[in-house]
Amino acid sequence: METKKNHLIKFLSFLLPGIIITYPGVYFYNKNFDLVPFSSFSQLFLILFVLSTLTIVVFWKILKCDLSKAVISASIIAVSFNVYSFFLSFSKRLDIFIVEDYNFLPFFIVFTIFIALLTYYIPNKQATGIVTVFAIIASLLFLINGSGLVYKGGMNAYAAWLDSKGKNEISDQTTIANTSDLPDVFFLIFDEAAAFDVPPRYTEAVNPESAVNYFTQKGFTVFEDSEANSVFTLHQIAQRLNATEYPASMDLYSVYDQEIANSTVIKKFKQLGYTVVAYDQRRDKFPTDSAFPADILIETIPEDSKTKSIFLDDYKLMVLRLTPLKKWMNTDPKIQLHRNYLFYVRNTIGLEDTSGPKFVYAHLMLPHEPFAFKSDGSLLPVEAGYENWGNYFSNYSFFLSYSQEVVEEIFEASPGDKIVIVQSDHGPRMLTNFGYTGQIPNFLQEDKFKIINMIYFPGCDEGKLSQMSDPIKTFDVVFDCIENNSQNK
Ligand SMILES: [Zn+2]
Repeated sequence: METKKNHLIKFLSFLLPGIIITYPGVYFYNKNFDLVPFSSFSQLFLILFVLSTLTIVVFWKILKCDLSKAVISASIIAVSFNVYSFFLSFSKRLDIFIVEDYNFLPFFIVFTIFIALLTYYIPNKQATGIVTVFAIIASLLFLINGSGLVYKGGMNAYAAWLDSKGKNEISDQTTIANTSDLPDVFFLIFDEAAAFDVPPRYTEAVNPESAVNYFTQKGFTVFEDSEANSVFTLHQIAQRLNATEYPASMDLYSVYDQEIANSTVIKKFKQLGYTVVAYDQRRDKFPTDSAFPADILIETIPEDSKTKSIFLDDYKLMVLRLTPLKKWMNTDPKIQLHRNYLFYVRNTIGLEDTSGPKFVYAHLMLPHEPFAFKSDGSLLPVEAGYENWGNYFSNYSFFLSYSQEVVEEIFEASPGDKIVIVQSDHGPRMLTNFGYTGQIPNFLQEDKFKIINMIYFPGCDEGKLSQMSDPIKTFDVVFDCIENNSQNK
């Protein structure tokens, strides 16, 4: 019995450095469970766990330490690995000497190894005692976190099962005889775009006036004072694609996701004989979301599809930026793909070859983070901080010119009757989580809700269009006018 217990404690001790080094990863995965793919979590977990366990072997077998001391040394290295960015920013704040990665990192490594080697002076018996206590505490914490994850995974699987049970297929019947008369409909969502009158309140660097003039002259009705009723992306999109108001809560994330996947607006377009084309960047940020329900879904540039799986995704970057690897985690391999995708959309939107009318949906992460763009669309240097709200306005200026270019492209590609809707889901949220920095001081709460909302729909009367000031009513108005116009023909 006694030896069995000893074996268990010895086994737990051996896991201790691995549990410590993977703790931030488990913590972030727990907090962002709906957003992080399991594969990404497990890859990072395994790599760090194995490396950390190997450091025990280095101290134990190569440096000939007692096993308990080797575990303590490896644990010290694991702790210091995880708190690197904390000490870096702490030292920067002390402001005693100029602290950057290049001079702090060597000091930190030498210091860590020095402390790790001090374990040599701990008596063997005490070392075993220390390791036993910490191994038991760490294992308990690990079990608690782990069972939370298992519970969430189980609940999600149960919700998916319930949802698949309740689903019934609807047929794609055409209710309007002559579908060739129906206009193409374009629905552009620019994520996080502030209403035109918001940025000038905070900066002189943004001048939305020429954009407003452009859209007005093009024939758009621009709704000033249009507001979202939450700052949750999925909540906003689910409401507009179902013309229905839902309660706003992040706990309902998977409900919104399902409501988008089963959108009544999309079903209606299908019934009217439309082909649905979607450009969707949402799953770049939220890879666990359901696919947009489109006939043609373009989430990556066709020629970039091979590079689609990037090892260093947002989750891994978030965890590794805490560590000495931070220095090499500043380059975001996704930025170039993101930029290429935006230009691809601009160059191809409206050109899809479909037999009948089409509904083209585009959800673009602009001016959303990464705040990587100068106002002319070239890239800011990485050091500027792609999660720094201070760069929101240059991103926004790029959005202003980019959105005009996209609309220009639509008018060229689709010269006949068409409807073009340009909206944002919500305004700039000034988030502080996910590594965001540089929040604009005194940013008004109400300005986070003010959105871009405008529509080009000649032939739909002003009175009807004005209801669209509430974005949830967008497609009630659109279908009402489409049916009205087709009966009058
Ligand atoms: Zn959003």
